[in-house]
Amino acid sequence: MTSTDVNLSCVLHKTMDMRMEERTIPMPGPGEVQIEMHSVGICGSDVHYWTNGLIGDFVLTTPMVLGHESSGTVSVVGEGVTHLKVGDRVAIEPGVSCGRCKFCRTGVYNLCPDILFLATPPVHGSLARYHVHAANYCFKLPENVSMEEGALCEPLSVGIHACRRAGVTLGSAVLICGSGAIGLVNLVTAKAMGASKVCVTDISESRLEAAKKMGADHTILVKSRDAKALAKEVEDVMGEMPDITIECSGAESSIQLAIYATKSGGCAVLVGLGPPEVKLPIVNAACREVDIRGIFRYKNTYPTAINMISSGAVNVKPLVTHHFPLEKSHDAFETAKTGAGNAIKVVIDCFKSK
Ligand SMILES: [Zn+2]
Ligand SMILES: [Zn+2]
Repeated sequence: MTSTDVNLSCVLHKTMDMRMEERTIPMPGPGEVQIEMHSVGICGSDVHYWTNGLIGDFVLTTPMVLGHESSGTVSVVGEGVTHLKVGDRVAIEPGVSCGRCKFCRTGVYNLCPDILFLATPPVHGSLARYHVHAANYCFKLPENVSMEEGALCEPLSVGIHACRRAGVTLGSAVLICGSGAIGLVNLVTAKAMGASKVCVTDISESRLEAAKKMGADHTILVKSRDAKALAKEVEDVMGEMPDITIECSGAESSIQLAIYATKSGGCAVLVGLGPPEVKLPIVNAACREVDIRGIFRYKNTYPTAINMISSGAVNVKPLVTHHFPLEKSHDAFETAKTGAGNAIKVVIDCFKSK
């Protein structure tokens, strides 16, 4: 940091009104660190706030810095922080929980009612040159893990949490509905956790190509909304019904498929978010003891994500299809929104170009 630096930030003012602004450089308080930002991935939720101004009960009412999938270099260390020093490269876990409530105290801190999550109104995100974060939620990256991979620990965390909730283990047969970034992180995580076969569905041929490249054993191009017929196709293609289905699209017919397709006694995990109410074959699930589980973000996943990447257990690099400099954040969001150029994950480079 030099005295002439400004904190260029990507700020969402209201629906479809995103501006690059020079904000003050924040200084860390006790227990915090200032981070010179390096990589920020654009998430579906960032795009949704930009295009709709809200997600569920979280409504944008005051200008908010976007971005929550991020990494950077520690530039100032706040009082009392002992595990990090200036120059450390870190992945930033975006949800900072209260640490005191019964959820935090029992380890399910993702369910903390007072959690502060980056770029969830009214909490500012990290799509800026500098960001201050709770040091306990910053994880030092080993030398062989890049900054970009550090940022990808966020979506990878969703895959780890979903696969843990689903009980993926050695020999599992897994169906993943939806081959966007979240479907793909579930794919690589399920494989790393020992799934013997993974089948991925999507309505887009190019996204299924990405799934094949990242290790899918089978893919199915979805052309109809007939969930029962599709479940039969899944069984034919996989040679058995999947033990586990991880639904990442949020589409009604796909959630129905998750229930019909899953083996009796198996588990369907709902990751994708669509309309708040959907019509489901719940009696079919009940009579076959198919458990339906949800996930909310993730917990205790960052150390796992970093180790998985560092050891080579997963390769998340193919997720990144596009890079834009911070100044061109608007173009980056446009690309993420339209999926132009077969975009999967768009990463914004927050460092100053030389
Ligand atoms: Zn995200
Ligand atoms: Zn709490």
